Amino acid sequence: MDRFLEKIRRLKKERNAVILAHNYQPGEIQDLADFCGDSLGLSIEASKTDADVIVFCGVRFMAETAAILSPDKIVLLPEKTAGCPMADMITAEQLRQLKAKFPGAIVICYVNSTAEVKAESDYCCTSSNAIAVVNSLTGDKKILFVPDRNLGAFVAERTGRDIELWPGYCTTHVCITEDDIRRAKQKYPDAVVMSHPECTEPVRKISDELLSTGQMLKFVRKRSAKRYIVATEKGIIHALKKENPDAEYIPATERAICPNMKKITIDKVIRALEELKERIVVDAETGARARKALDRMVEILPTD
Ligand code: SF4
Repeated sequence: MDRFLEKIRRLKKERNAVILAHNYQPGEIQDLADFCGDSLGLSIEASKTDADVIVFCGVRFMAETAAILSPDKIVLLPEKTAGCPMADMITAEQLRQLKAKFPGAIVICYVNSTAEVKAESDYCCTSSNAIAVVNSLTGDKKILFVPDRNLGAFVAERTGRDIELWPGYCTTHVCITEDDIRRAKQKYPDAVVMSHPECTEPVRKISDELLSTGQMLKFVRKRSAKRYIVATEKGIIHALKKENPDAEYIPATERAICPNMKKITIDKVIRALEELKERIVVDAETGARARKALDRMVEILPTD
């Protein structure tokens, strides 16, 4: 292991590279990264780094976002097939058709979307700042929220705004069921249930806290609970344990694993640095249009 880490350190220096990893990455990838976080934290990091090369350990839309925010950098995705099924649930053409049905509506797209969909949107958001983005909009214009119907419904509940939802969803978070939470609560009645807003409504309703992964980390820092039931992709438990090792973290289900997030390996990170592959490039016109929505996303910080 040390040999591989040493190689990565050397290659990073030679390339002037930084390694960013999402909280859902395998533990060993989180451990070798320079910065770990949720989509908002990683986007901010990607926009301000002075490295020449960004190795993005996550899925394609995240690397695309980094490429749009830092167009002069080389952005690498160590596994080119690491995609996000939710991001592929709406195309730019489908969004144009939706906009035509609701002229004058404001389009907010979740960052889990393609560059082309971002280019058709007014605002981008992450699960950390979706409520803050909607609350920043004055007036009562209708909002079109794509592609995640669960996050969109959560935002509508919390803000009371008129939001048209696109029927997309995360294939990993919908595996977590209300029964999973009830069973876990029965076994650990003292545990705090932290769920991600990408979970379905029945799960959201019986959770104690609805938080992005970054917010979960902040939450356990402030709370002194002994146990947490965690309803999101299991990778976050590695980060939670590092942050607060004295507490116990119970995954709501062992099924909550995103297969795309788990495609990144140490070997692939080394290969990415050696061969500068898979390079993610967004065409200039799409990038410039998507950038406006993304700049708004990184400017509007969550209020918590
Ligand atoms: S966890 Fe869900 S939203 Fe995140 S990358 Fe995997 S499929 Fe996409």
